Amino acid sequence: MTRHGALTTVNHMTTDLADRVADLMPQVLADLTTLVELPSINFPDHDLTPVQQCAQAAADLLADAGASVELIPGPVPTVRAEVPGPPGAPVVLLYSHYDVQPAGDTTQWESEAFVPEVRDGRLYGRGAADDKSGVVSHIACARVFAGKPPVTLRILLEGEEEYGGEFEEWPRTRPQEFSDVSAAVINDLGPVELGQPTFTTALRGIIGGTVTVRTLAEPRHSGVYGGPAPDALMVLIRLLDTLTDETGACAVAGLGGGDWQGADYPEETYRELAGVLPGVPLVGSGSVASRLYARPSVNVTGLDAPAVADAPNAILPTARAKISVRIPPGVDATEATEALARHLHDHVPYGIAVEFTPEAGSNGTLIGTGGPACRAYAAAMRSAYGTDPVEQGVGGAVPFVANLVEEFPDLEVIATGAQDPLARIHAPNESIDLAELQRSILAQAQFLENLAAACGD
Ligand SMILES: [Zn+2]
Repeated sequence: MTRHGALTTVNHMTTDLADRVADLMPQVLADLTTLVELPSINFPDHDLTPVQQCAQAAADLLADAGASVELIPGPVPTVRAEVPGPPGAPVVLLYSHYDVQPAGDTTQWESEAFVPEVRDGRLYGRGAADDKSGVVSHIACARVFAGKPPVTLRILLEGEEEYGGEFEEWPRTRPQEFSDVSAAVINDLGPVELGQPTFTTALRGIIGGTVTVRTLAEPRHSGVYGGPAPDALMVLIRLLDTLTDETGACAVAGLGGGDWQGADYPEETYRELAGVLPGVPLVGSGSVASRLYARPSVNVTGLDAPAVADAPNAILPTARAKISVRIPPGVDATEATEALARHLHDHVPYGIAVEFTPEAGSNGTLIGTGGPACRAYAAAMRSAYGTDPVEQGVGGAVPFVANLVEEFPDLEVIATGAQDPLARIHAPNESIDLAELQRSILAQAQFLENLAAACGD
């Protein structure tokens, strides 16, 4: 076949696929609505019934799309589906999660968190982006090839991503799910901006835990005893203050850090999306992208103290804070946790003993993009979006991806999706842009065709 002929064929296929994805979008919206209506919050003290219902709903939609589906039992089920490609075709893993964050402060939502609503081309609802947009993308890829994809699809939809659970260990505990896979698409991320296809290539890890200071047997009247007796909350505050330096950068030694080599993150965009108030400076040093993707960051995410309205004039005997630290790729989470514990024990004032209870951490990850599957995906993005992809880091940890990359270093991992920065994941008014979702689905489906073609050469 001549070069010209080959190009014509590819363009024809692309157009045809684009039309089919466009025709599929009402079904995708219906699928997404079905899933977002189920509050699949897999957190302690939440009813797991909707989580199980959501797994079943996703399984039913996949079966409707022509996949053979099973629910693998666990604390909550994992949906496992396969759609066979032609004999000898490569196996592509399509991963997403169907569990969601709690709604949070419901008064901040403009429409109800679990009543999906389309406004200005975006579907609003908890999980609409994170990560039910990924779930419906995989279902759409099964649908768009009418149950006969050009490669074999293995779809894994887990329900333990947001709080953590057993699934993230699957690369170690169920290696047979991954050992025959040529490429894994992690559809739980998104573009740097709408219309800009993006590979995520760096994921920060996370460590943290709870620190407790005890100074007195019980509360004591501050008039009678205040002065010599150390106030546990004040001691804790002094300790927490040592976690950052005078610029606000993380001051815990041994957590690594460097400069981000990819595209920078415009400061104005960051300020706007992070909701930093006018007049409030950014803290830390280095480029915004370095601070986000290549350096550790520390936050106090909870504090046990009496509410101001009910505060008695008493010296507090105990105080407790939750510390959350993001660590750059390449830093070992276990060693980082030890470094944090060492810092806390070394910096507590007055030689008071401090208790630190660590939480399970996870390593950050660097994802390579040099392999043939990544090239096939990049070409698919180019045809779906009309522009070249860029690479970004993300601040969040995805432990499953870290484990997958660690256990299967030769497996090509593609981390992408439709969750743009305006998606407000984990926050009130989460949403997904439906045009971006369509482009993202087209790119994913086109990738499957490109990969099949590359393997057939
Ligand atoms: Zn997610």
